[in-house]
Amino acid sequence: MFWNEKIETMPREELTALQSERLRKIVAYVYERVPFYQEKFDELGIKPEDIRGVEDLTKLPFTKKTDLRDHYPFGLFAVPREELIRIHASSGTTGKPTVVGYTRNDLQVWAEVCARCFALSGAKPGDMFQNAYGYGLFTGGLGMHYGAEYMGISVIPVSGGNTARQIMILKDFQPDVMACTPSYALTLADRLLEEGVDPKDLRVRVFILGAEPWTEEMRQELESKLHVDAVNIYGLSEIIGPGVSNECIEAKDGMHIMEDHFLPEIIDPETGEPLPEGEIGELVFTTLTKEALPLIRYRTGDLCSITYEKCKCGRTHARMSRVLGRADDMLIVRGVNVFPSQIESALLNIEHIAPHYCIVLTRENHLDVMEVQVEVTEDFFREVGDEVFAGHTVEVVEEVHELEQVVRRRLWETLGLNTRVKLLGPGEAPRSEGGKLRRVIDKRNLQ
Ligand code: ADP
Ligand code: ZN
Repeated sequence: MFWNEKIETMPREELTALQSERLRKIVAYVYERVPFYQEKFDELGIKPEDIRGVEDLTKLPFTKKTDLRDHYPFGLFAVPREELIRIHASSGTTGKPTVVGYTRNDLQVWAEVCARCFALSGAKPGDMFQNAYGYGLFTGGLGMHYGAEYMGISVIPVSGGNTARQIMILKDFQPDVMACTPSYALTLADRLLEEGVDPKDLRVRVFILGAEPWTEEMRQELESKLHVDAVNIYGLSEIIGPGVSNECIEAKDGMHIMEDHFLPEIIDPETGEPLPEGEIGELVFTTLTKEALPLIRYRTGDLCSITYEKCKCGRTHARMSRVLGRADDMLIVRGVNVFPSQIESALLNIEHIAPHYCIVLTRENHLDVMEVQVEVTEDFFREVGDEVFAGHTVEVVEEVHELEQVVRRRLWETLGLNTRVKLLGPGEAPRSEGGKLRRVIDKRNLQ
């Protein structure tokens, strides 16, 4: 199903013309209203009229997360505070959060793009939606909420966490659609199975999952455990929140970007030069219609690739690949670049290994040591005997030793790096309690 068929299937030429027209407008708009951009343009000697269309995009300066921080909280806003009707902020793991604002029109655009995400995910008017994204400053909850209402889906605004309540609602209200982080979907799936709930008795047919990196292997795991379709949604507060892109349920092969509102580029993160179609680099967005916080060439820090190939769903909008991770999530271990998502891919297909893991980095004799801690399955645990795992130290029992070797070999094949492996008993690795899960514990600079 399409939500806005004309836009979603617009021929590329028309779409480019629309983007160009909107780009000209937004460039003039920020030059006039945001001193930060006026100064930047002046420094580079660019006048708004130099930007005639998307072909001139690369003449424009980048905007970075630090620019938002330097102008904390409202310094990059293009409208007076009286015109704002909503404020959100991203968590900001260190220091102050990144603050974003919305005008009435921005909220309308946001509802529109989120409604398209529901359509992409196979949801339709009349469905019921359990929204387990966090409500509050985080954009996930309210963003999806208004998109669903706009489409005519009834929302259960349960917010993140409280797994017992989530399960009660899944069983008693029988929603058709659910949204949360992929790590939380795994927590839910395990709890349902533990409680003997057969997912086939639930009506929910699709999970819309995002806000953190996940893998194809995790999709297989979740789809088979929950008997649902699991689709990927992407977004970030600076650009709007959820709703920047979403996979179509027909292909599940890359997330369609709402290109009439967000103009994407992929650049080389080192040089800033644009990369050819299909190459992995840093994703950059220019907002084409945002009023309160328009951003020019905003560097997301997220690494992925983009394809403009036709999709079997009939939509013409470009698709971005799964996000490997943020540039700052990349671990450099003994000079080798490692993304946690690569570790997830490597682990998830190993027999007797459960999809719960974490990564601990330490330094020994000035050398980085990466330990991958991963749980064994319940079956394996019962088979080898739980006393083997007692006290969190795995004694060398042959089967355990063999499994460790298998994991280590698989990690070596994937990463080209020697890792330590620690097998954990069921329930010992961290779980998502509702939101994004941090799986990396980096102690290297604490030692
Ligand atoms: P915070 O900085 O607090 O995490 P956001 O909620 O705005 O704030 O986070 C946006 C970021 O979350 C994105 O830049 C990206 O790194 C990550 N993200 C969002 N959706 C996905 C997804 N589907 N796959 C991978 N990463 C995602
Ligand atoms: Zn598609």
